[in-house]
Amino acid sequence: MNWQNESGGESRRLVVIGGGIAGSLLAKSLQFDADVTLIDPKEYFEITWASLRAMVEPIFGERSVINHRDYFTNGRIFTSNAIDITDTNVLTAEGFIIPYDYLVIATGHADSVPETRTARLAQYQAENEKIKSAHSILIVGGGPTGVELAGEIAADFPEKKVTLVHNGSRLMEFIGPKAADKTLKWLRSKNVDVKLERRVDLNSIPELDENGSKTYHSSAGETIKADCHFLCTGKPLASAWLKDTVLKNHLDVRGSLVVDEYLRVKGRKNIFAIGDITNIPEIKQGYLAQKHAVVAAKNLRLLMAGGKESKMAAYKPGGKVTAIVSLGRRDALAQFPFTTIIGLVPGMIKSRDLFVGKTRKQRGLEGWNLKLHELDD
Ligand SMILES: Cc1cc2nc3c(=O)[nH]c(=O)nc-3n(C[C@H](O)[C@H](O)[C@H](O)COP(=O)(O)OP(=O)(O)OC[C@H]3O[C@@H](n4cnc5c(N)ncnc54)[C@H](O)[C@@H]3O)c2cc1C
Repeated sequence: MNWQNESGGESRRLVVIGGGIAGSLLAKSLQFDADVTLIDPKEYFEITWASLRAMVEPIFGERSVINHRDYFTNGRIFTSNAIDITDTNVLTAEGFIIPYDYLVIATGHADSVPETRTARLAQYQAENEKIKSAHSILIVGGGPTGVELAGEIAADFPEKKVTLVHNGSRLMEFIGPKAADKTLKWLRSKNVDVKLERRVDLNSIPELDENGSKTYHSSAGETIKADCHFLCTGKPLASAWLKDTVLKNHLDVRGSLVVDEYLRVKGRKNIFAIGDITNIPEIKQGYLAQKHAVVAAKNLRLLMAGGKESKMAAYKPGGKVTAIVSLGRRDALAQFPFTTIIGLVPGMIKSRDLFVGKTRKQRGLEGWNLKLHELDD
């Protein structure tokens, strides 16, 4: 491969750190324009918003957990964590030194998930067994993850007792109170016991009764009986590793990378950051992370072809919060700038396929459908 540009000389070695929602799309988009290396500790890219469905229906994961090699066919993959960056190289945990001309950081939020696709699918199977064998389930955290998991379990296993405990005064603080209130009513109508403004003490080991059921304690002084629990609290940004690198002064107090309007790390000509890791003033959502990838790819293509910086595309932050939160297979809550609706209509937009076909197609893959659990009439 010769990655010299037309004006001669400049190479196009692009290193992408993080193969999540943003990094996978960017790597796929530029794989035939540059000499691309993707670094990710997982061998696969995962459509995060399908992960809760995969817990109640593990076969769903077959489409939402995708080996990097399936969509990124023309480039190098290092299955590893990046642990250091200099002005010219990236160092991986295995000790590989990877030189770059352009760098993109897309490490999102820290999560500990298995390295291989097979192990990830097995994990879904195990979580599914845990749900199926429990009579009562405690979900800790009433953000979108906890709410969507409660919705999935309530829809597929209506006979199970689900308790959702959230420390805030309303569910999903990132959306408006009206949307949170509608969601609360929906969950309660499905017999989910939602308890607000309290924390579950997970530091002490819950007491076991003779049937194997556990007794958890909340900060409100009550006891909650459940056979198992799922922790759905927020995850930290995956930026701690940047604190001893050349980018240490480009992190804000929250650990986000400070970017300019072109999505370059502020003050750096050849380093971009996209996705949740950035300090862009907007909610951290995958559909926005993908928009970042599109803008950064455009700018990188321009720069690598010797184009002028003045021609770069600027990213316009997402305005009013738009969000669709699925509530099982049929229903969803949608907050649009002009209205908030709940029920079948937003459910038709998202809840059946959870945009899995669309997300696969964006990566050049078939949106193929397995014989998934059909909607009950
Ligand atoms: C359960 C759940 C449901 C969601 N639902 C929705 C939804 O319905 N709609 C929506 O728009 N958004 C949703 N989101 C949010 C969305 O998933 C994120 O906004 C999106 O994943 C951010 O993309 P990203 O590429 O920045 O980070 P991620 O997708 O988190 O990817 C980060 C990647 O970086 C890798 N990485 C981390 N550290 C390193 C390192 N040191 N070196 C190399 N690689 C590293 C990780 O392995 C990972 O592959 C949901 C999130 C979750 C968890």
